[in-house]
Amino acid sequence: MIDAEKIRNIGIIAHIDSGKTTVSERILYFTGRTHKIGEVDQGNTTLDWMAQERERGITITAAATAVEWKDHRINLIDTPGHVDFTVEVERSLRVLDGAVALFCGVGGVEPQSMTVWRQAEKYEVPAICFVNKMDRTGAEFFDVVRKIQEELGGNAVPVVLPVGKAEQFTGLIDLVRNCEVLFWEAKGQTRVEERPIPEALREEAHAWRKNLIERVSEQDESLLEQFVAGREPSEAEIRAALRKATLSRRIHPVLCGSAARNIGVQRLLDAVVDYLPSPAVGDPKNLAALAFKIFSNRHAKLTYVRVYSGVLASGSYVWNATRKRRERVGRLVEMHGNHPIARAELGPGEIGAVVGFDSTLTGDTISTEENPILLEAIEFPSPVISVSIRPESRADRDKLSYALAKLAEEDPTFVVSFDPETEETIMSGMGELHLEILVDRLKREYGVQARVGRPQVAYRETATTDSEVDHKLVKQTGGKGDFARVCLALEPLPPGSGFEFVNDVKGGNVPKEFVPAVEKGVIDAMRKGPYAAFPVVDLRVSLTDGDYHEVDSSERAFFTCASMAFKEGFRKASPALLEPVMSVNVVTPAEYLGSVNGDLAARRGRIEAMEGRPTGHEIRAAVPLAQMFGYSTQLRTLSSGKATFTMTFDHYEPVPFALAETIVAERQKVLAGRRA
Ligand code: GDP
Repeated sequence: MIDAEKIRNIGIIAHIDSGKTTVSERILYFTGRTHKIGEVDQGNTTLDWMAQERERGITITAAATAVEWKDHRINLIDTPGHVDFTVEVERSLRVLDGAVALFCGVGGVEPQSMTVWRQAEKYEVPAICFVNKMDRTGAEFFDVVRKIQEELGGNAVPVVLPVGKAEQFTGLIDLVRNCEVLFWEAKGQTRVEERPIPEALREEAHAWRKNLIERVSEQDESLLEQFVAGREPSEAEIRAALRKATLSRRIHPVLCGSAARNIGVQRLLDAVVDYLPSPAVGDPKNLAALAFKIFSNRHAKLTYVRVYSGVLASGSYVWNATRKRRERVGRLVEMHGNHPIARAELGPGEIGAVVGFDSTLTGDTISTEENPILLEAIEFPSPVISVSIRPESRADRDKLSYALAKLAEEDPTFVVSFDPETEETIMSGMGELHLEILVDRLKREYGVQARVGRPQVAYRETATTDSEVDHKLVKQTGGKGDFARVCLALEPLPPGSGFEFVNDVKGGNVPKEFVPAVEKGVIDAMRKGPYAAFPVVDLRVSLTDGDYHEVDSSERAFFTCASMAFKEGFRKASPALLEPVMSVNVVTPAEYLGSVNGDLAARRGRIEAMEGRPTGHEIRAAVPLAQMFGYSTQLRTLSSGKATFTMTFDHYEPVPFALAETIVAERQKVLAGRRA
């Protein structure tokens, strides 16, 4: 077990292309591959299948990589770069304690930086900033610092300064240690040397060191007293105060460097140890761990876990408190890049992977049967888009369902379903690209050839007015009949509220034992709404009255009656169609701004903001998903390939009435066609 004080669970949050991969590689490189903990497990199944995968050229991305730096364990948690997968970012933010926000020295604060920064704020994750690519022409350290303050609202405080610009960028001034740090390559190795700040830089360094001390003093009383008295605090005092202020998210220390040129990465690692939090640990006796990522393939399954309290031991039996099932910890590993290392146990604050879990899914809590604990589950949005998928051949058919089940197990935002009406398998996910990547993985990793249908938007139905309904079911067919009477009141709820069922029956007109059947009947009818067979959401349904018959009433009768009552009541409640609306960020050179905007407007897009940035103009818009199909091709054409965009699901919104009627009519035609 590792002392929690010496653990740093961190993630790098960044805009695509700011250098996250390069920085991560350099971190692995500079920390070396010295494994102090555990022994390399040889010839075990884990290693075997990993080797096989590597031979096939499939890269295994570790969800968390362990490295050692200055007697500390740093677990580097993967935060996916593509914005289509922001839920992945959110999920990693749940299990990390601190973040490195990475910026490009030229691009600065880019649209995606804002998205991930906001997410980090939401989870109250302390962050340090690293301005990368300082060797590039046009890199401006202080511009980026200012933008972190102005555009992200971070209290950005430089703790280093760059020495030299662009090609001449050679090192840093370390404002805490008050020295110059030079980096250079000799005999294939990176050398780091500290020396006194050269005369020419002394004034600037002095001013920024003063700024650092002043800003830290604002957050620390004892330092403030010293500052007022004109006394210079020691290096250790600055570090301690800066750590405190960073942990409470009152300061964001900013460093800089060039990962590609091996400049500044070691200082970044120092800062991770110095300023980012160690994991808080709970009761050492009670196990509580969160499964945050599942990685599986044909050979094995890795369930990544973070232990919050207690100890997770290899070979032990544990309790999945979410699913209320026993699970066996077959084997425990920690990943060093792609190399698994066996661990006997994982203690509080640690991150590792279990080989051998059966039914545990992402977001589940692992505890002990004697002491079941439920950690807050990770919230995943429901899919907004779906496609039908058909195997090419008989052989593919068998493999397809297995592979789909495996992929769905890994990815909580990917849902597989079967439509009995059309006998089609349906894949649902968070965007066109999301589904494309999954189809590609079916081919590459599972060898399944399949054809996919046209993407369909996941519409929903809701009511816009209140309604009441009184429905009676009477069936007399010789012997025992069916009887039930159900009175329902329907009320629309605010967006995102889901479904509420209220039992308002007074005086036993509907016997208690039949009430659950009424609720089930309503829920069943809501799965395929009466308007256009889309799921019904944001509605309160109250059971207000009813009637029963001593002999002829049954659960089945109440189920059927409630279902019919709901359908009738919903039709009277002015149904509306809801559609997923995406938040779209386009960055384009100024010359294409007009045509990009015009195109977004033609797609029923609402432009919400426009800003000039060093990398181009940024447009933020809200656009219905239904209008975004094929957008990447269109944007490429419009901008000669120069514009880029990102898109994430934002919210559901009513479809304009006339358009809704068209969609419903089309849908009815399709459904009729399928039934025929
Ligand atoms: P990611 O998309 O954030 O993972 O970024 P990558 O690490 O893949 O880097 C994107 C591009 O920037 C690649 O071409 C890198 O070689 C380049 N790059 C990364 N770090 C630096 C750097 O410090 N300086 C320069 N000049 N280029 C860099």
